Order: sequence, then structure tokens, then C-alpha cells
Amino acid sequence: MKKKYVIGIIIIIILLISSATLFFWPPSFKLKGNNITLKYGQDYKEPGYTVTKFGKDYSKKVKIKDKINPKKLGTYEIIYELKLHGITYKQIRKVTITDKEKPKITLNGNQNITICPNANYTEDGYTAIDNYDGDITDKVQVKNENNKVTYQVTDSSGNTAKITRTITKEDKTKPSITLKGNQNQTIYLGTSWQEPGYTASDNCEGDITNKVVVTGSVNIKKTGSYKITYTVKDNIGNSFETYRIIKVINKPVTNNTNTNAKGVIYLTFDDGPNEGTTNVILDILKKENVKATFFVTNKGPDYLIKREYDEGHTVALHTASHDYATVYKSVDSYYNDLTQVQNRVKRITKTESKIIRFPGGSSNTVSKKYSKGIMTTLTKDVLSKGYHYFDWNIDSDDAGSAKSSSAVYNNVVRNLSKNKANIVLMHDIKTPTKDALTSIIKFGKNNGYTFAKITMDTPMVTHKVNN
Ligand code: ZN
Repeated sequence: MKKKYVIGIIIIIILLISSATLFFWPPSFKLKGNNITLKYGQDYKEPGYTVTKFGKDYSKKVKIKDKINPKKLGTYEIIYELKLHGITYKQIRKVTITDKEKPKITLNGNQNITICPNANYTEDGYTAIDNYDGDITDKVQVKNENNKVTYQVTDSSGNTAKITRTITKEDKTKPSITLKGNQNQTIYLGTSWQEPGYTASDNCEGDITNKVVVTGSVNIKKTGSYKITYTVKDNIGNSFETYRIIKVINKPVTNNTNTNAKGVIYLTFDDGPNEGTTNVILDILKKENVKATFFVTNKGPDYLIKREYDEGHTVALHTASHDYATVYKSVDSYYNDLTQVQNRVKRITKTESKIIRFPGGSSNTVSKKYSKGIMTTLTKDVLSKGYHYFDWNIDSDDAGSAKSSSAVYNNVVRNLSKNKANIVLMHDIKTPTKDALTSIIKFGKNNGYTFAKITMDTPMVTHKVNN
């Protein structure tokens, strides 16, 4: 063989080997990123890969086998395969799904609880939810040490959650005392007074009526104001105090058999003033030179009250609203209503009136519906406040069945007496009353009666109290 051929063959062999080598040369197959750890619930995102050989991109030929179960913790393999010239190239990426999230404990009720010193904490409850395990409430361990309640739970991946509830034992709430009967009471000199009773309760200890200490006393033989004090203390030392004022007053001079006023007619007009009737009544009284008494309300125009006062009559108080439900709702409500009309009169006449008449009279029973016993209280209490109240002993019945002037006239004159002070109930808002007035006055004058207005010196004429 000649050298030439040998060299040629060698070259050919070299060429064959090199082209085979180049042909079977493995591609560059690279995964972007390494093994991946995912949090449970986090989506897997392919980070990508590159496959090149001599500058040519083979990535589209890669097949991916992905066995990830995102609902289950664990380590999974993603297999990347590339078949090139009958040879299979593989890359593997490991994907681990882990749970590093703590479970969440939720407490029922407040995290910081204050309870009475004598109370035991009763568990308000709780729930524990884990992102992977779900409800693991039954795995919660509860420990109560020194009024710190600790709740601890660990999920299947070993993540532990802990929460503490603090229990504070204290009592900063005062007890309270409820008085039976009215706080302000009035009795007549020489009559007995008995404690109407009371109850005391405490937020922690319940009924502590037996712990109430009562101090003070009432001297029924001496007029004056007496204070009875009620004090109570709970076991912690919170205390509460209240009091009652008992006024002992002289029994007022009342009466229907008052000798000084025998044969005197006191004309009294309630519920006004009223445009159209009150002014006519005032005209008649002026003409006849008779003085009368007006128990006014908040109705009607101011100028009629001014006229009543300027023309020498007594402007007395009936209440502002005359509404039974308002007036007799409570003692406070009564005074509130009375004060309103008192202020009106004061504003118009520049004089404070202390002469009053209860709507319905002191004998009314309608007040029972709104407040039991209120008339018993009020009839004494108004006296202790310096008021004089007047009922009547002759009823014209002009607010009832007397619808004509002759009926009003007859109801009045047939009941007049020379042996008493005649307190005549009429209403200056009534037309038959204004029409009967001249005749009534003429009858009185012709039969030897005199007329007078009620003043603070007039002995009270009062009914029997029925409520
Ligand atoms: Zn009335």
C-alpha cells in the first residue's frame, strides 16, 4: 500500500469518527432553578429550561412528566425528557410541598376577661383551624394556671400555635339600694312613721339586703326634716349610700266647718283661660264687683291671666297640661307639670302662686291607673313645699251633666249654705257657666251671702283621698 492511501484512509476514518462524535454529542440540557420548595397552597410555576446543541434550540421537543398533587404534602419529581437521534436525555427536578403555617386558634368571648372575685372562670370555648389539617379543635390543649388560660395546638407538620386568655378577678361595681316607697315622705305631726323597706343587690354577691345599715331617725313629735341614711358595702369594700327625707309637718287647718268663712261663696273657675268665655266671666265679675279664683292651665291667651290678676282675682294653679296620664305618672311628673304653669303665671303676673287644685280633685281615683298611692303622697307633699290645695264642696257639674245655664244655676244655689265656706267648682271654659253666673251672683247677694277669693289665709277645703 502506498503511503498516500494510508493517509487518505486515516483522514476518512478521522472524519467519520468526528462526524459520528458530533452526531451523538449530547445536547446542553439545563434546568433553570434547582429543586423547589412550595408552601402548601402555592401554585407550581415552571421556572423553565434550555436545550441547545451547537446553537440549535431543542426545548420544544422536551416532554414534561409532572406528578405533583397540590393537595398533598410531599416531595414530587418533575421529569424532563428529550429524545434526540434515538437517545433519551433526562433531567429531574424535585418539588417539595411543605406546610410551615401555624394553625389559628380563635377564642370565643374576650381574650381578657374580668370576673367577680368569688366567681370561677367557665371556659367560653375556642376553635383551632389549620390551613392543611382543617379543624383541629379537638387537639387543643388547655391549661389554666394562675388565671392565665393557655391554648396550644400543633398541626401534623409540627407547627405550633399558642394563645393566652387572662382572667382578672376584680369587682369595681358598687352595690345598689332600692328604696320601697317614695324617697321624700311627709307625715303629720304626731302620726307614726314606719320604714317602707328597701332592697340591696350587688353585681357579684346578689341580694345583700341584710348588709344594709340604716342610720337616722324620725321624731314624730317635732316638725322638721329628718334624714334616714342607708349604706351598704360589698365584700370587696365597694359601698353605696342613699337616703330618705321624712318631713314632719303640722296638720293643716282644713275645713269645711271653718267658722270664719261661714256663708262666704268662693267662686272657683278651672281649666281656663279660654277666649270667648273667660273674658265674659271677667266682665260679669267686674260689673258685680265680685272677686273669684281661677285655677289656670297652660291653655288660652296670656292676656286673660293678666286681666284676672289685674282685676283683683286670685290666679291659682291647676297644672299645665291637665292630662291625667302625664300629671299623675309620678310625683316628679306632677311637679314638673305644676312648675310649668307656675312659671307661666309668674311670668305674666310677676307673682308666685302657691294655691293649687289637683286635676280631678284630691279625691280622684283616675290617678290610680297611673301611679298607685300618688294622691296620698302628693296631698301631704305639696303642703310640705308650702302649697295650699283646694277641693270644693259645691259642684256646679258644668263639666258633667249640667249642659244648660239653668242646670248650672240650680246645682250651685240649691247647695249654698250659711253654715260653711261655700267652695263652688265651675269651669270658665263653659258657655252655660258664663250664662248662669249673673243669676248665681244675684241669688247670693239677695240671700245674704258674701263673695271672696281664695288666698293663702283661706282654710283649705279638702276631699277624702282615695288613692
Ligand atoms: Zn280641671
